[in-house]
Formats: sequence, structure tokens, C-alpha cells
Amino acid sequence: MASESSSTPPLNIKLLLIGNSSVGKSSLLLRFADETFLTEDESSATIGVDFRVSKMEVGGRRVKLSIWDTAGQERFRTITSSYYRGAQGIILVYDVSNRESFEALPKWFTELETYVSPNVVKVLVGNKVDKEFSRAVSEDEGRKFAERMDTLFVEASAKSNIGVQDAFKEVVNKIIDTPALWQTTTAQPRQNSAAAVNRTMPGGAVNLAEDQQAAQDGGCSC
Ligand code: GDP
Repeated sequence: MASESSSTPPLNIKLLLIGNSSVGKSSLLLRFADETFLTEDESSATIGVDFRVSKMEVGGRRVKLSIWDTAGQERFRTITSSYYRGAQGIILVYDVSNRESFEALPKWFTELETYVSPNVVKVLVGNKVDKEFSRAVSEDEGRKFAERMDTLFVEASAKSNIGVQDAFKEVVNKIIDTPALWQTTTAQPRQNSAAAVNRTMPGGAVNLAEDQQAAQDGGCSC
């Protein structure tokens, strides 16, 4: 007999990474999805990571995460509103060794107030904790700010692989426990929601409906 996890379709969850340039958004994504870390030279040669699909199981339920990176849009201060559409979770990143990236957080929260529903789950990630010697934001300060903004909080290092899994898992667990998010996303016919997702994706080149089929066939179009 097929188990519940293999017979039911996976939950599709869209997560976004935001935060100042160079805080480590792409690195967190690569660490989580590909289990890799690019050195400074390697990452400067990379144009930017757009998107990764990652699968996980939470409480016996299969979850398919589409995780989007800004791919450098923030450098030009023009993250398009379509980037935010359809997201259930936001991973808001700053660099613990860069005070400016922490002080920019209110600006990012203002942007979120404009573009995403209040139900969307947020996790604040203080990245680069391996740079303890040049820390400019204490863990306590990060945590207190997260409490004030009513978000989850994790300190992490994409480089040393600290806290990365926790950050993603915490946000996914909370999304699953937030029914209001599912009323708007899963109530739509699948065809329509896939089409809606495709319309909103930067570049519009990824077809999640095909990806879903590939996943069911045992492959991945990512
Ligand atoms: P993004 O612009 O926010 O996507 O940042 P990147 O992922 O491109 O990272 C910017 C730079 O920070 C790169 O040189 C990375 O190698 C470096 N970096 C990213 N994460 C970490 C980390 O956890 N620790 C350290 N020491 N460096 C990191």
C-alpha cells in the first residue's frame, strides 16, 4: 500500500530571498539546494542564481520548494513587484559583519508591506557568523529586531554550513502551519495556479507545470 507521502501530490511552496547586495543570498540558496559554497572568486564569476527547486518532507508530507533569488536586481534598487507575487515565505538576509546591511532592514520591511500579504511567513537570517572577528551586529540585537518585526530569526553561515537548514526548515514549518496561506494558494485549480506562477516568475522561462511532471517522472527540470 502506498504511504500518504507517496500518494498525495507535494505541497508547492514559493520562497524568496531578499536583502542587500553581497549579504550572501545566492550563497545560502546554493548551500541549501546544492550543498555547495562558491569562494569569492567563483561567486564573482557567477552572473547570479535565479531559482532552485528543492524537495523535503515535513511531518510525512512531501514539500516542493521553489526558492527564488533576486539575482542582483537589488543592486539597481528595482526589485519588481512581480518577484514577490505568489510567495508564501520570505528569507530576509543581512550580513552580521556589515552594519549597513542590518540598518537597511526597515527599508526591506517597508517593501514587504507594500508587496506581500501580512500572512506571508518571514525569517530574518543573520549570515556570515563565521566572521566572528569582524562582527558588527550582535546576535541579541538581531533577535530583538526580529521579535519587534514578528519574524523568525536564525544566525547562519553559508560558508561554514551553520544554521542554513534551520532557516529554511523553520520558514517551511510555519508556512505549513499557516492555513490562511493555503486558502489563497491551493484553492485555485492547479492549471491556473501554475499559469499564474509562470506569469510572475522573473524571465518567465520556467514552467512549473512541466517541472511538476518531471518531478513525478522522477526527474527535475531545474
Ligand atoms: P548576494 O549578493 O546577497 O547573493 O551575495 P553572494 O551569495 O553573492 O555572496 C557575496 C559574497 O559573500 C561572496 O564573496 C560570498 O563568497 C561571500 N559569502 C556568502 N556567504 C558567506 C558566509 O556565510 N561567510 C563568509 N565569510 N562569506 C560569505
